[in-house]
Amino acid sequence: MKSLTQLTFDNRFARLGDTFSTEVSPQPLNDPRLVVVSEAAMALLDLDPAEAEQPLFAELFSGHKIWSTAEPRAMVYSGHQFGSYNPQLGDGRGLLLGEVVNEAGEHWDLHLKGAGKTPYSRMGDGRAVLRSSIREFLASEHLHALGIPSSRALCVTSSSTPVYRERPERGAMLLRLAQSHVRFGHFEFFYYTRQHDALRELLDHVLGAHFAECLEHPEPYRAFFREVLERTATLIAYWQAYGFCHGVMNTDNMSILGITFDFGPYAFLDDFDARFICNHSDDTGRYSFENQVPIAHWNLAALAQALTPFVEVKVLRETMELFLPLYEAEWLDLMRRRLGFAQAEADDEALVRRVLQLMQASAVDYTTFFRELSESPAEQAVRRLREDFVDLQGFDAWAADYCARTAREGSEPAERQARMQAVNPKYILRNYLAQQAIEAAEKGDYAPVRELHAVLSRPFEEQPGMQRYAERPPEWGKHLKISCSS
Ligand code: AMP
Ligand code: MG
Repeated sequence: MKSLTQLTFDNRFARLGDTFSTEVSPQPLNDPRLVVVSEAAMALLDLDPAEAEQPLFAELFSGHKIWSTAEPRAMVYSGHQFGSYNPQLGDGRGLLLGEVVNEAGEHWDLHLKGAGKTPYSRMGDGRAVLRSSIREFLASEHLHALGIPSSRALCVTSSSTPVYRERPERGAMLLRLAQSHVRFGHFEFFYYTRQHDALRELLDHVLGAHFAECLEHPEPYRAFFREVLERTATLIAYWQAYGFCHGVMNTDNMSILGITFDFGPYAFLDDFDARFICNHSDDTGRYSFENQVPIAHWNLAALAQALTPFVEVKVLRETMELFLPLYEAEWLDLMRRRLGFAQAEADDEALVRRVLQLMQASAVDYTTFFRELSESPAEQAVRRLREDFVDLQGFDAWAADYCARTAREGSEPAERQARMQAVNPKYILRNYLAQQAIEAAEKGDYAPVRELHAVLSRPFEEQPGMQRYAERPPEWGKHLKISCSS
């Protein structure tokens, strides 16, 4: 276990120099207060959990102090936003403080979000508000606990510094951890500015640091694109299987590591609705829940375009064709597990699609459906769930097929229950739960956000006394308007 002063930095990205990032110092927030900390994220840096109690902790993560071996820098990138190319993006309000090497030899980027203006701030103030910082913190740590690849969050600090959005809000900072902060948009920037030498340098850095296995391949860049595509297909399969709606799948928000990245107006589905749009500003539904699959494919095409100086177009096209089959196989596998099937059968996909259609038609709560279906025996579980469906005939027919399918597997009811509960969360991050915790935190009461974080970091376990977090949402809680402005 280490103290804060014992962290070791090895700033590989900073060493790439000024073509890729610009030196910027964090601008501190007034009267910093620590809102919430993730002990699991501290462990990634080998930090002793007691370090969070030290005044230095809040000082470091609100921009007041910085390690002498950190090298804070703003990265440059561009990207496609809602389908249009924006040539100039970059870290407008976050800084890569440096890369910490842990005892396992892993590099973890420390990225301080809300750290003030940078050369890439455009019209923005370089700040983040408490509301959005808490939302990103809760989601990243919860996704990780669900087994879904994600950037991580170490802590949120709040302050008395006012930040103006639709109303004055509290300025805050989030310390994000990820093994890389390189996005699809990084490659697009160097491609569209015709800096092909820099593009190659970026590729070599990313391969060396994060895709070492691709270097063994006779065509490393080709292998790299395929690997990114596979990881992205897996990630999207998880999102779709668990009802996660990202909300702003611009290419600058797509991690090259295939992890969930840059949280804005995201939501987990309450009622199952394939056409759900979580971003209040997404008028056309470009990033609706069901569109996440074709959009991920579209984003991979944007990345492929940026790789055309080094990989043949024909090869990129062939690789692109692997996306949908890969995604579908992964998604079906996850759904099969959610339904409690240990083996695959030919009709499984039809069985999954039928129940989703029934859920869609009756606006059935997505998370509780699978958790309650985990109850034993299956016959009893479906009898209870039947109450939620309007099309009883349709549901009864499905339930009969489901029970027969379950019986054919012949697993012990208790074993089936345990297997299903291990993949079907009891607790999910619902927008209204986040909202309640945020409202308390804005008034200076951090107990609710800490409790919510604790519950959501063990989403599959029964937690006595925490039933209120597992309930179906109230009607008002399903219709919160969340937009990009954060
Ligand atoms: P996002 O919507 O958070 O993914 O941000 C898109 C782009 O806008 C990125 O380049 C951000 O750095 C930049 N940005 C977002 N909010 C701000 C802000 N308040 N100040 C400066 N830049 C910002
Ligand atoms: Mg972003």
